[in-house]
Amino acid sequence: MAAPVDSVDTGRLPAPRPGPAPWVAMYHSVGDCSDDPYRITVTPARLGRQLAWLRRRGLRGVSVAELLAARARGEGRNLVGLTFDDGYADFVTHALPLLRRWDCGATLFVLPGRLGGDNAWDPRGPRKPLLTADGIRHAAAEGVEIGSHGLTHVDLTKADDLTLTSEVADSRALLTELTGAPVDGFCYPYGTIDARAVEAVREAGYTYACAIDPGPLAGPHALPRVYVGQNDTSWRLHLKHRLHRLRRCPVEGL
Ligand SMILES: [Zn+2]
Repeated sequence: MAAPVDSVDTGRLPAPRPGPAPWVAMYHSVGDCSDDPYRITVTPARLGRQLAWLRRRGLRGVSVAELLAARARGEGRNLVGLTFDDGYADFVTHALPLLRRWDCGATLFVLPGRLGGDNAWDPRGPRKPLLTADGIRHAAAEGVEIGSHGLTHVDLTKADDLTLTSEVADSRALLTELTGAPVDGFCYPYGTIDARAVEAVREAGYTYACAIDPGPLAGPHALPRVYVGQNDTSWRLHLKHRLHRLRRCPVEGL
């Protein structure tokens, strides 16, 4: 399902005119959201309605790799990136069946330093189990793109040089070994970035990286994403989609 990203750097000419920044939605956990202090959870029912809304509008959710490959060909205006951060076990039980039902792809950003662990980096709220290596392989076998969220979920802007390199490069090596496929995408923990972190990600060989609000660092290695949560009804999604296209500048090289 995930097409290889062979050229997100528009090395091939003629380069397509940059369109509006691609719409990439950011999810985390899919399950019970009654105790959710960080607002990172949507219920399966809500996710189902959001995917139905996309399809009604003629849009389709895909992995970020597939979205960028389509954009590099000058296509993909009807595609929306769907990303799920942290690699919660509920991705396989709750999100995957809905993605399959609505014929959507997605990118799952996982933490190979916490396989089978939990969200210990979030002090408040319930512990949420993370996928094991088998769970990640299962998602990959279903066509989900696997990307790196670092090794253990640290803020890269506060990491020393050794930690930064190991979080970015070692996580890629571990995931490549785990999935048996190249790992193209990275996602900054907490969405925090600076020029040093972006450079480390580029140097580690990733072809793209997801941020949240990258500001002037926006580019293939700092893609903006739109938070989508439990309160996002069809009407709110409609507004977010329109505002994103108005507010985001074209991203050079996409
Ligand atoms: Zn995260």
